[in-house]
Amino acid sequence: GTAALAAVGLAAALSGCVGPASDAGADRARESIALLLPEAKTARYETFDRPLFEARVRELGDHPVLYANAGQNAATQQQQAESALAAGAGVLVLDPVDADAAVSIVTAANAAGVPVISYDRLVAGGDIAYFVSFDNERVGRLQATAFVEAVRDAGDGDGILMVNGSPTDGNADQFRQGAHAVIDRSGLRVLAEYDTPDWSPDKAQDWVAGQIAQYGDEIAGVYAANDGTAGGAISALKAAGAEPFPIVTGQDAELAAVQRIVVGDQYMTVYKAIRTQAEHAAEVAVALLRGEQVTAPTLVDGVPAVLLEPVPVTAGDIMATVVADGFWTVGDICSPP
Ligand code: BGC
Repeated sequence: GTAALAAVGLAAALSGCVGPASDAGADRARESIALLLPEAKTARYETFDRPLFEARVRELGDHPVLYANAGQNAATQQQQAESALAAGAGVLVLDPVDADAAVSIVTAANAAGVPVISYDRLVAGGDIAYFVSFDNERVGRLQATAFVEAVRDAGDGDGILMVNGSPTDGNADQFRQGAHAVIDRSGLRVLAEYDTPDWSPDKAQDWVAGQIAQYGDEIAGVYAANDGTAGGAISALKAAGAEPFPIVTGQDAELAAVQRIVVGDQYMTVYKAIRTQAEHAAEVAVALLRGEQVTAPTLVDGVPAVLLEPVPVTAGDIMATVVADGFWTVGDICSPP
């Protein structure tokens, strides 16, 4: 009672005269974790990354998560990062819209003594504490390996389109390089290739529609870098009544894509265990916030990193992959979109 009141009174009295008050204040305030995700048109971020990250942080202690989604706008992401730093975030978990532009976010965080975890996509510079992603070159190789074999087996020609990801996303580079490493020595002919701004499914659809107008039934397959762009490509092919239906790839094992694989509109996707990724990022974020040492199994561009294994999924693998792992249930897959 009285002792506690006296202590409060003493602290209040002293607060005006002890040391550099601003530093002490900043230290006390930095108890939250900012999660900065890049976009919402791709289903994974709001369906998996965000809720799984938040749930794991909650399990580990009492650290608020400051969440923001940049809607594919690098300037918006810069502002969201600045707001998070101003609001006292002690760690930034950053999935950059634009790998180069995001260097200034890392610089600002570093200046405030706030560690940055690069989440899924690697920021192109700055002092990054940790990188949690998948082996993204391997994603491209897995897509292309399944694709080349299926296009050959179909026997409907050797002309293909390549719909790559956003030119500002370093992962998109890796997917493309991995895919080219396989496609370039396959004997298939790349009729045309496109880097999809913002990974926008609509832009992928428009571009594929234009290529159909030009190449028609020369198109035996469409390499699409993710399920969002695959959805756009498939819409364009359906609208044009493409027959026989070309082989189409994807990535993320989005529910809509798994359903398209079941009905035969999409040939394959790549399953990435987002739960493992999000939970690991949450664990590293909490450890960094508490000033603990973190160790990583590998280095990517000098950054301590963990790279998880992507898994290819065609119709025959659905049960043994996404269902076995609890990513989707049979009920999810069988309920109409
Ligand atoms: C991610 C993919 C995602 C794409 C579009 C990439 O960086 O690795 O999972 O589909 O961005 O958001």
